[in-house]
This record gives sequence, C-alpha cells and structure tokens, in this order.
Amino acid sequence: MNTLLDVKDLKTSFYTYAGEVKAVDGVSFQLDAGEALAIVGESGCGKSVTALSIMGLVQDPGKIVNGQICLNGRDLTLASNKELCGVRGNEIGMIFQDPLTSLNPVLSIEQQMIESLMLHQKLSKRQAITRGIELLKMVGIPAAEDRFYQYPHQFSGGMRQRVMIAMAMACGPKILIADEPTTALDVTIQAQILELMKGVRKSLNTAIVLITHDLGVVAGLCQRVLVMYAGKIVERAPIEDLYYRPKHPYTWGLLGALPRLDAEDNQKRKLTPIWGKPPDLLAPPPGCRFAPRCQYAMKICEREVPPDFEITPQHQAACWLLDPRAPKVEHFPEGSAAL
Ligand code: SF4
Repeated sequence: MNTLLDVKDLKTSFYTYAGEVKAVDGVSFQLDAGEALAIVGESGCGKSVTALSIMGLVQDPGKIVNGQICLNGRDLTLASNKELCGVRGNEIGMIFQDPLTSLNPVLSIEQQMIESLMLHQKLSKRQAITRGIELLKMVGIPAAEDRFYQYPHQFSGGMRQRVMIAMAMACGPKILIADEPTTALDVTIQAQILELMKGVRKSLNTAIVLITHDLGVVAGLCQRVLVMYAGKIVERAPIEDLYYRPKHPYTWGLLGALPRLDAEDNQKRKLTPIWGKPPDLLAPPPGCRFAPRCQYAMKICEREVPPDFEITPQHQAACWLLDPRAPKVEHFPEGSAAL
C-alpha cells in the first residue's frame, strides 16, 4: 500500500485568555491510497481539529505547534496559504455535518460548482457546466440537468449532502475528509450517504477519513479506526479487532453505548452511557486522561501517561491494563462486539 498521508506527532493548541488548550496533543497516523479510516470520539476530543489541521483551516487563536502533515511526502505545515488553497479541493476534499453552512444560500449550485471547476481544473464555462452535471449524476441527484440550476434551499438535507460530496469530488481529490457527514440526517438517508461514499471510494480509489462520534456508522465503510480521547489517540485497530477485541476501557464504553442489531438482545440489554465528562484540556490530568471516568483506574494511571501497548502490529492501545504486571480484568461485559 502507498502511504498518502503521514501525520506525525501533530499538536494543535488554542491560545485563550484562560491559557493554552491542547486540543490535539501528539497525534500520529498514516492513511494509504484508497483506504477508509475512521476517527471516533466524543465532541471536543480533537477529531475535528485534527481534520482542520490537515486542511490548513485552523483559525486564530488556534495554531499547529508541532508535528508534520506529509501529503505524498510534502509537509503541509510548511506550505503557504496559497499552496494550501491549491491542496484543498485539488488534493483533499472536505464535507461537513451541515451542508447549509458550506453552501452559499444565495448562489445556485451551478454558480458554486463551476467557479471551483474553472478555478482549480482550468475548464471553460461550457466544460465546467458539463462536468458539474456529470458530478451531480454521479452522486445520484435525479434530473441533474434541471437541479444544477437550483438553489441550496430547494434540496432536502440528504440531497444537499450529495451536492456537497459532488463539490468535494469536483477536482478529483485523493482524500475525502468527511466530518460527521450523516449526523444531521435520518437513519435511511444516513445509510444512503455512507453507501455513496463507499461507492466513491471504490470507483475513484479516493481515500476517506470519516470523523464521527458514532462507532455504529463506521462498520460498513471503514477498514481501520482511531479512537480519540481528550486530544490523544487511545486505541487504533482494524475494524474487526476494534469491534470484537477492543482493549481500551474508553472503547469498551463507546461500544457499550451502542444498540445491537438483534432486537431480542436489545430488549435484555441496557445501553450503558459513559458516565462523567471529558477533562478540561486547559489542565488535563497528569496521567491517563480517562482516569477520572475509568472504573479500572489504578494508582499508576493517575501519575503516568500510558504508552501505546502493541496487541498486534496493527492494533495498539494506550492503557496500563495492557502492561504484563497489571491485574487481569474482565472487560466489556458482553464479551463481544456491539454490532
Ligand atoms: Fe483506565 Fe488506567 Fe487504562 Fe486509563 S490507563 S484507561 S485509567 S485502566
């Protein structure tokens, strides 16, 4: 596999009046061409800031303070604003939870799409119109020739998200970053959008980074998962290992809060929320950041940051329970995956 994106020890902080908020604190991962990777965690865990850092879109008072973001070997943290503008759209496309915030309500889809196609792809207006309509067809917009000239408010939520995917794919990016793309949609439409992204990945070999708080939506699309908590990656694993052999208590909590697909079991089993709230990143706990919420916390957890323990070459988790000297605990009461 070719490594397309290599993020090394990324740290992004926000300098507020109260002090430095370390929103992303030493995140490293790789993304291969055509691979689909999920970054999962609660709001405020740093997953969206990781995506914005990759796109060069961190706004003041935020700043990348350390690390490298290498796209095909080129470090984007050293790129100028003009270069980053070229990278966005041409090499990395992004879609957000609410397409209405990204689509301009006073411009038709035609005006919004052809501008980007003419600017980035150097197409004539006629070529841009043809390409724009093709893209709408590709994402399953019916009567694309007519709808191309309509305005965002004339589309339903699911259709607007399809338009956003068409716009993000307009310049044939190698990576599509999707930040909570289905959160605002109902379940049936969610499934259609995920299916569409799967199709885009297969047909165009586009790598996907899916950012979500919901472990339930990643199974059908992604091959690997990074679980983030309080600015750090706490577990990384291929999808099967994460669902069937999770090793971090926070991942157990995320899985325990998911409904299972077989109704009989759902009736017997209570969904267990993760109690407590994430730490204040102005003054995070000195050891494991999950310790105040972890029922398995030991003395060392409060003192020392757990290193990444290797379960297999593809599966690591940062938890002291994986130290050979730690007591063996019965984890994840159901003993199997939530899906
Ligand atoms: Fe819990 Fe300790 Fe593991 Fe942190 S390191 S998740 S506190 S057991």
